[in-house]
Amino acid sequence: MADTIPIAPGTVWLVGAGPGDPELLTRKAERLIREASVVFHDALVGPGVLDLVPRHVRLVSVGKRSGRHSKDQRTIDALIVEAALAGERVVRLKGGDPAIFGRATEELEACRAAGVPVRVCPGVTAASAAAASLGMSLTLRGLARRLTLVTAHARSGEEIELDWQALADPQATLAIYMGKAAAPLVSARLVAAGLAPDTPVVVVENASLPGERHLATRLDLLPLAARTALGDGPAVILVGRSVAAFAPADRQRAAAAVSGA
Ligand code: SAH
Repeated sequence: MADTIPIAPGTVWLVGAGPGDPELLTRKAERLIREASVVFHDALVGPGVLDLVPRHVRLVSVGKRSGRHSKDQRTIDALIVEAALAGERVVRLKGGDPAIFGRATEELEACRAAGVPVRVCPGVTAASAAAASLGMSLTLRGLARRLTLVTAHARSGEEIELDWQALADPQATLAIYMGKAAAPLVSARLVAAGLAPDTPVVVVENASLPGERHLATRLDLLPLAARTALGDGPAVILVGRSVAAFAPADRQRAAAAVSGA
């Protein structure tokens, strides 16, 4: 059922801003941005999206980029709750989809604990935008039956806790978020867990943004590629046979597998 009820004063919407291109915003997200009285946004929300926020709407950056946290999560939770309790129409604009590595749970719980009505508007997640830019599918009949979204971000000084054995599945596509810094570890652990060293990898930086860049490599060469060829934009790392549809060296093998040859 379509839900087009205007934002009521005192409510919070967690809104997915998508990967950056304002045209990848949902129509609902665009409407909510227009109806808000205050918008709290992340650093990753694209400038083109922020341009859609009307002049009279208060725009507050609560930007977080890894290692440079400008506001901690509790402060953000408190800010949105406080604004709602003061009767504002609150939009909390988050990069991609709020429900994917977006700390949505903390904000939902903070609102609920304070008795503030809270809703979620989904967005296009980075892996979808990256695959679209590459003109490839994240799933592939016979080659990639599973899509795994994983974050390779660890709190500083902590080892990333992932089940590498489970992730080293040759029939899966792995989309690694926040994985640039951990690329050497990811590559080494996946190879050690049995994933072929020549498994195709594409790194997509700034998907859907003007500075978008693609880097095709293979799993064992990923550390070198990540170190030498990437800028400081957000990047998603796609790993798996499905990526061969983009990586030219593996194109024939993928085509043969799909056709059952
Ligand atoms: N909720 C977001 C993810 C937030 S975590 C989503 O659904 O997309 C932040 C990570 O998302 C970044 O480190 C990067 O891995 C990825 N990311 C976000 N925007 C991106 C973009 N435009 N291009 C490539 N990766 C992006």
